[in-house]
Amino acid sequence: MQFPQALETVLETLERMRNEGARQPCASRTALEALKEASAAPRPVMEGAAPSAPKLMGHDSACPSKDQNADKLAAINERVSACVKCPNLASSRTQTVFGVGNPDADVMFVGEAPGADEDAQGEPFVGRAGQLLTKIIKAMGFARDEVYIANILKCRPDTPGSAYGNRPPTPSEMQTCRPYLMEQIDIIQPKVIVALGATAVEGLLGNRAPMHQLRGRWNSFNGTPLMVTYHPAYLLRNQAPSEKRKVWEDMMQVLEHLEKPISEKQRNYFL
Ligand code: SF4
Repeated sequence: MQFPQALETVLETLERMRNEGARQPCASRTALEALKEASAAPRPVMEGAAPSAPKLMGHDSACPSKDQNADKLAAINERVSACVKCPNLASSRTQTVFGVGNPDADVMFVGEAPGADEDAQGEPFVGRAGQLLTKIIKAMGFARDEVYIANILKCRPDTPGSAYGNRPPTPSEMQTCRPYLMEQIDIIQPKVIVALGATAVEGLLGNRAPMHQLRGRWNSFNGTPLMVTYHPAYLLRNQAPSEKRKVWEDMMQVLEHLEKPISEKQRNYFL
């Protein structure tokens, strides 16, 4: 195949992958335009010299790289760590809890708010419920740092007069903090969001309904498919295998949506 034909084939393939939403290899709009120009232009061939190829791996804004996303998230984290929009939470928190994981993740898990363990460590889902979430993520075939994990609220809801226990965030606290999560989602652009528990659903979608009606269903968050499932803390309170199985079935729907192969072992898995 001649160079111009080969280039055209590459170009068509990249265009198709981009239109289908593929993220790798990363080809920016600018790179695709450069390829088009290169394939159209006459190519002088100098003796002994290979034709120079246009730059395919653009790092402009149309092609978000992992590093760029990490930098953008770090900039938001800086604002969050200085945020005092909820004065009571800002004064009672040990630190803010921004989010962790892959800045370019396909799956983003969203919970409600940090608890005591998260407030102490500065990372979401690190207590007992967090350990169960990590187990679920691994059973799905991901490492914890391959997905992204965040909460609606970045500060632990205060519990005045008590050093122990957690409380759910109020609608007004969620409304105040929500823009930070929106920015995180805009940057990461996950293929699927998993809302963990009714409070996360309320914070993301504004819906209030019993979890048995919400879970296992696909919703849309500004065009991103959103699956609702139980919060892992619920599974710690209710150890019934049937409830754990429901969460696993919800996660299999996520895997199917991502077109990830599901093994027989995974299909028969109980958390
Ligand atoms: S909960 Fe969110 S909005 Fe409120 S103080 Fe913490 S970071 Fe700021």
